[in-house]
Amino acid sequence: MPKRKIIIAIDGYSSCGKSTLARQLAQQLHYRFIDSGAMYRAITLYFIREGVDLQQPEQVQQALANIHLSFELDEKNGACEIHLNGENVSRAIREMLVAEKVSEVAAIREVRVFAVAQQQAIGKGGGIVMDGRDIGTVVFPKAELKIFMTADPAVRVLRRFEELYPSNPAITLDEVRANIELRDYIDTNREESPLRRAEDARLLDNSNLSREEQLQKVLGWVSQLENASDKSA
Ligand code: C5P
Repeated sequence: MPKRKIIIAIDGYSSCGKSTLARQLAQQLHYRFIDSGAMYRAITLYFIREGVDLQQPEQVQQALANIHLSFELDEKNGACEIHLNGENVSRAIREMLVAEKVSEVAAIREVRVFAVAQQQAIGKGGGIVMDGRDIGTVVFPKAELKIFMTADPAVRVLRRFEELYPSNPAITLDEVRANIELRDYIDTNREESPLRRAEDARLLDNSNLSREEQLQKVLGWVSQLENASDKSA
């Protein structure tokens, strides 16, 4: 009998490796991977390009009405890349300019309503791994597996620096640290869907875990749940 495909919700602080884990899990399990942060980043990129005033709710609403987001498979590298109104923006959304504004944009209620509705529609059939800040608390409160990821701040800064450096050799550790600290602060303290650990989320601190060790640990949790789901189905 085929196993029931579950929903895996991964939340946590910036640069904990959530997307890396989510992508690996999706590959192993033949699930879909959705990076919800990429959606907030693409919205932010649009707002920057169009000069949207974040203090003006009508401008925000108007801009959202003109945004179409989709995830499309890149045949060459097998990655699922985000498109903004038909344009592949998966590189552009990683720029520091976007990183500096995204948490402010993601704190706007209208923006969250817009993004969450799409996330729920994408994931409703199960067989999905989604990572973000509110996936286990707001987007999929009934997800079968919820993971809350954390890692030592110094480890997170170094990881993000190594990721950004090849395309931006002028970047400094201090800049990366300041951005991570600011985003964590805004994400944790905002009124709308603040980042917090769902009561039933499993804590995963990967400061001292390799990617492979982390993956195996989580695959163990998944197989327990898939088997449990089988019995109850
Ligand atoms: O995951 P990533 O770091 O790319 O997310 C960028 C930003 O998008 C986060 O710092 C946060 O402000 C916002 N975000 C959010 N809710 C999510 C995913 C991301 O508010 N589910």
